[in-house]
Amino acid sequence: VQGMEGSRVAVLGLGRSGLSAARALQAGGAEPVCWDDNPAARQAAEAEGFVCMPFKTVDHMEGIARLIVSPGIPHLYPVPNPVVALALAAGVPVDNDIGLFFQSFATGDWDSFDTAPRVIAVTGSNGKSTTSALIYHILEHVGRPCQLAGNIGRGVLDLDPAVDGEVVVLELSSYQTDLARSLTPDVAVFTNLSPDHLDRHAGMGGYFAAKRRLFAEGGPDRAVIGVDEDEGLFLAGQLSQGPVDDRVIRVSVEQKLTGPGWQVFARKGFLSEYRKGKQVGSIDLRSVAGLPGAHNHQNACAAYAACRTLGLAPKVIEAAFHSFGGLPHRSQTIAEANGVRFVNDSKATNVDSAAKALAAFKNIRWICGGLEKEGGLAGLAEASANVRKAYVIGREAAAFAMQLSVQAEVCGTMEVAVAKAAAEAEEGDVVLLAPAAASFDQYDSFERRGEDFVEQVEAVLGR
Ligand code: ADP
Repeated sequence: VQGMEGSRVAVLGLGRSGLSAARALQAGGAEPVCWDDNPAARQAAEAEGFVCMPFKTVDHMEGIARLIVSPGIPHLYPVPNPVVALALAAGVPVDNDIGLFFQSFATGDWDSFDTAPRVIAVTGSNGKSTTSALIYHILEHVGRPCQLAGNIGRGVLDLDPAVDGEVVVLELSSYQTDLARSLTPDVAVFTNLSPDHLDRHAGMGGYFAAKRRLFAEGGPDRAVIGVDEDEGLFLAGQLSQGPVDDRVIRVSVEQKLTGPGWQVFARKGFLSEYRKGKQVGSIDLRSVAGLPGAHNHQNACAAYAACRTLGLAPKVIEAAFHSFGGLPHRSQTIAEANGVRFVNDSKATNVDSAAKALAAFKNIRWICGGLEKEGGLAGLAEASANVRKAYVIGREAAAFAMQLSVQAEVCGTMEVAVAKAAAEAEEGDVVLLAPAAASFDQYDSFERRGEDFVEQVEAVLGR
């Protein structure tokens, strides 16, 4: 971290990103003072030689130059975090690891892009990881030096020093964009917006505002924006300098975009790129076989557009699409037996992402349920047309099942759900885990839930 030499910096939250912030601050000559309410986390920090101290009164903030808050800590909603409140009362700036990263990581002018390192930052409600990983994959494919960080890959402060021509691909959640004091990517991508994490952002407006900070004045040189929701449309309009503007690329999977601007859209299985009213690129989306479903076409279009801002040719991007295998726990086919396909989409933790997964397959035996998100399951009714039957897991499985508009059986555990779904599945069916809920009532993470699904499928198939 640059620019903090000799300052005392408070680090709140000592998980992965907090510890890496403390290390990076120390390496940059700052003096981190750490805290976590969890004694085990403090012990881990102390074992590395970091000083831990509680922040209980405004006096404890004396001499502190900045407070770095972990993304896992709700800083403002539903109630202000007490340490953050103290910092604000004492006039201490509040920031996070992403802010420190942008403060320290210098990229060049857009014109000198051949040698200057670049940062591509990806945000949105769904598709962030897939889009980031796909961009990274394309860059690797063409041999461009690149690193993947943020919510996916490494912590931003654990990255290697950038080399000439390098591209850092950052996946950023709303928790991260909300707090970062510096947010200056060269290319910013906004995939889409749907209700999620509304509790921590006090509603949709706050959530959109948090994501939008990535596109604020002085922000990206190029913006790739999904315009299938009003918010994206609005954002693209706000950033545009006029009808023909190379700064903004609009992306859609729901409409054929028109007008003279730069746009990338998916229609009838093809990706098309238009610029100044002329078609300049076209790709058969069957080339991204690793990414099934219209929602993934949105991710492919966004990744394509981001790479086009770097000057990569459509053909080169298409070639890279072919070798992309997708990400674990995201519409991932994990087994096929007797004409039945088993798909792990454990990452579908909210209604919108589950609806997208349901739209991507037919004859679905749907494993769903878990910790329900705010906003209820209303959006699932329309999406359930392809569902033959639901097998509901989770501690509140019965209550969850009652809200579904399809035949639903309360299974409770993954083991029971997989066994029943597999036993009842007929040739041509897809057994799909797309929970539309968080996993924390039964698992540590959506990854563990997905792994359990894989284990149960293997057990049922006798593998
Ligand atoms: P994020 O990192 O934003 O959570 P992921 O790429 O990990 O997004 O995908 C999470 C889940 O969201 C996937 O499993 C899929 O069900 C759904 N999804 C992926 N891309 C999209 C998209 N563009 N629009 C809507 N849902 C999506």
